[in-house]
Amino acid sequence: MSWGTENMSCDLGSSFNPLCVAIVGSGPSGFYAAEALLKAPLKVQVDMLERLPAPFGLVRYGVAPDHPKLKQPAQIFDKIAQTPGFRFFGNVRVGHDISVEQLRSTHHAVLFAYGAETDRPLGLDGENLAGSHTATEFVGWYNGHPDYRDRTFDLSAEVAVIVGQGNVAADVARMLAKPVDELRVTDISEHALDALAGSRVREIHIVGRRGPAQAKFTNKELRELGELRNCSTEVSASDLQLGATCLTELADKSNFVAAKNVEIFQGWSGRRTAPGDKRIVFHFLKQPVGLSGCGKLESVTLERGVLAGPPFAQSPEGIGSLESLNCSLLFRSIGYRGQPLNGLPFDTSRGVLIHEAGRIGASAGLYATGWIKRGPSGIIGTNRADSVATVATLMSDLPRLDPTPRAGGSGLREVLADGGTRIVSYPDWLRLDEMEVRRGALTGKPREKMTRVSEMLEALQ
Ligand code: NAP
Repeated sequence: MSWGTENMSCDLGSSFNPLCVAIVGSGPSGFYAAEALLKAPLKVQVDMLERLPAPFGLVRYGVAPDHPKLKQPAQIFDKIAQTPGFRFFGNVRVGHDISVEQLRSTHHAVLFAYGAETDRPLGLDGENLAGSHTATEFVGWYNGHPDYRDRTFDLSAEVAVIVGQGNVAADVARMLAKPVDELRVTDISEHALDALAGSRVREIHIVGRRGPAQAKFTNKELRELGELRNCSTEVSASDLQLGATCLTELADKSNFVAAKNVEIFQGWSGRRTAPGDKRIVFHFLKQPVGLSGCGKLESVTLERGVLAGPPFAQSPEGIGSLESLNCSLLFRSIGYRGQPLNGLPFDTSRGVLIHEAGRIGASAGLYATGWIKRGPSGIIGTNRADSVATVATLMSDLPRLDPTPRAGGSGLREVLADGGTRIVSYPDWLRLDEMEVRRGALTGKPREKMTRVSEMLEALQ
């Protein structure tokens, strides 16, 4: 076959000139994008870059240890990773070890799937007092994420407050409330298990700025909080007196998750807390307005509110009535936030890359998918449809892509070798995986994660 310049664009995707795509990020959206690309009816080479030595992003570092079923997508991702045409470049930080511009020269297209790594701030005085943490830190800590491995949480506190009423808040509450013997058989990291074993937290307050009909929990996650051993859930009956606008929202068929949540809350109202039980207390229509303490957190001030606005657009309005909740441990669980990457247009208000149907900028070649594209919403599976859509945009751009053959993975290796980066390949990861599983088996756990990058790299020596 010749490289006739007259039909070079047709040659793109042939075995002589495979379409080289770099995917930045190895979480669910990155893997689902890789799957869609590798299923395309042309020759594609996918090179996935991940800043940590271990793949799978939120499936490994976000899903709670006691939810092993939600980690099952890792098995699908493993199959994708072993498909011919796929290569993994772990321990490579885009924007540091290699630039977006360099990736554009080694690949025909670059697809960003690096998620939303930080948290939305509350924007309050005292937010950064010792004892006030982001849920991200806590989740990363118990899941053995190297960035959070050395965080400490004062679990000698009896009262913990969680701000926000989504599934991350439910995870944090469950991890604080669950009997530690039930966590021993999970892949929770050893340091977290040890700390939780000594925890004195007895009262967990979950604070929402809107009402029970607007809580963002999914039904299973909410119900689970009521099924914890030696733990009671408390909801005040007056919070369940819903106004006409909330009832209109709940009557809408598409809003069945919220309707079920309200039913679950109703089932808990009036329940007696058994003596000695831990307590999970739900607060509604309360917005934190200040965190105070002398050098460390001592209390959070909550302002009562009312809902105003039409169905599905009700927002809380403070009514000036304040209450103070004494606590020395607080988690802000009000949603994740994406970070900008040098060279890419970024919407600072939403914390996402600016794109149209997944395409970044007017010319073809740069794409976004997952949370960095649409914001932190949905469950793991939501990312599949999102990535399929972005890959469809990329495929429709094929005639517009520069068809000059690219060095792909070998080009990456060259650039990274110049900077001295120790690339972790997929076979390297499989070795780490095996070591973790072997370590876990010693104590009856599915795995004992390596929690430091240096530890992983040393293990590969
Ligand atoms: P989320 O579902 O968006 O919930 C965020 C919560 O924070 C909401 O209650 C929101 O209230 C509140 N909030 C936002 N800004 C606030 C502010 N300034 N002051 C007070 N409250 C504020 O976010 P998430 O819990 O971080 O979850 C992220 C995504 O991951 C979700 O799609 C979730 O379902 C998913 N996830 C799933 C699982 C699972 O399937 N088991 C586990 C974890 C996470 P408003 O509604 O008033 O904005």
